[in-house]
Amino acid sequence: MQCPVCVIMPVQCSNCVQRRAVLKRPKTGHSLCKDCFFWAFEEEIHQTIVSAGLFNHGETVAIGASGGKDSTVLAHVMKVLNERYDYGLNLLLLSVDEGITGYRDDSLETVKRNQQQYELPLKIVSYEELYGWTMDAIVKQVGLKNNCTFCGVFRRQALDRGAMMLKVDKICTGHNADDVAETVLMNVLRGDIARLRRCTAISTASDGEGAIPRCKPLKYAYEKEIVLYAYFKKLDYFSTECIYSPNAYRGHARAFLKDLESIRPSSIIDVIHSGETLSIKEGVKMPVQGTCSRCGYISSQALCKSCVLLEGLNRGLPKLGIGKHHRLHGKILAQEPLTEQEEKKLKPVDF
Ligand code: SF4
Ligand code: ZN
Repeated sequence: MQCPVCVIMPVQCSNCVQRRAVLKRPKTGHSLCKDCFFWAFEEEIHQTIVSAGLFNHGETVAIGASGGKDSTVLAHVMKVLNERYDYGLNLLLLSVDEGITGYRDDSLETVKRNQQQYELPLKIVSYEELYGWTMDAIVKQVGLKNNCTFCGVFRRQALDRGAMMLKVDKICTGHNADDVAETVLMNVLRGDIARLRRCTAISTASDGEGAIPRCKPLKYAYEKEIVLYAYFKKLDYFSTECIYSPNAYRGHARAFLKDLESIRPSSIIDVIHSGETLSIKEGVKMPVQGTCSRCGYISSQALCKSCVLLEGLNRGLPKLGIGKHHRLHGKILAQEPLTEQEEKKLKPVDF
């Protein structure tokens, strides 16, 4: 039998105490009406932007747009806040076309509609034009095990290259709180101290890394709330998973975090907080950032990861960029042939 009180009294919004609540905020547990939720969600992002000093008046900012929920919500909220608080930003959309038939071609159609809806300029850079390889072709050569390593490295550089073409001051990406917490967990599990130190930074400008400063205005926004915001705002986004998405390691970290969240919603913020407050003890060796001798991109080795992966693809030795083969960089740079033994180790036998 239903509780008679619930039948008679629908839950009121705990903020305005006027309208009927339509949701319980995953982050705080508050029952809110649609308008109060929109306001709370947008204000928190505004607070994140202001307290971290992410942007300066007059800057040109590229929003990394994939057509997915995170970047669509980011584009929408950035436009709203830019107007509401007169940030004075010149916003534009920047997309990367990885060349994944049946996935990215469809999601880019969503970005093109967003471009019209938000009246923002759009630039698309493709792996094919930048590297001469599409992800479809890469997967044909490397298989479905390490494909995301290629894709992730190439995307990072592609966004930077696109941003340089557009002469923007900053790039902002749709990474949300769940993404950051997952990354903290993954870096702890892998013992990747250098990445662990960097991954909670809200802006890469703060640690001098990266070609063009990047920031994450949604760093404290819960994925569940991003979905709710997109749903209630009726935003146009693309929700299909990539057809080449094995990424098993992140999947486990994600499942673990979701379990924790269901018991204690603050777990996501707590993990981020732990990552932010960790300090590295003295004497731990950190990679020294330099530049790639081939393409000039930032790199802690003689060749950047992207150039090594590309060289591996072009030589038919895709394992060159997977694992540690730094000692071969000198040979690659000098265009020297590898020994039979070295080649054998890098052939795609166990992909
Ligand atoms: Fe690229 Fe992997 Fe993401 Fe697909 S799942 S877009 S291959 S990184
Ligand atoms: Zn390079």
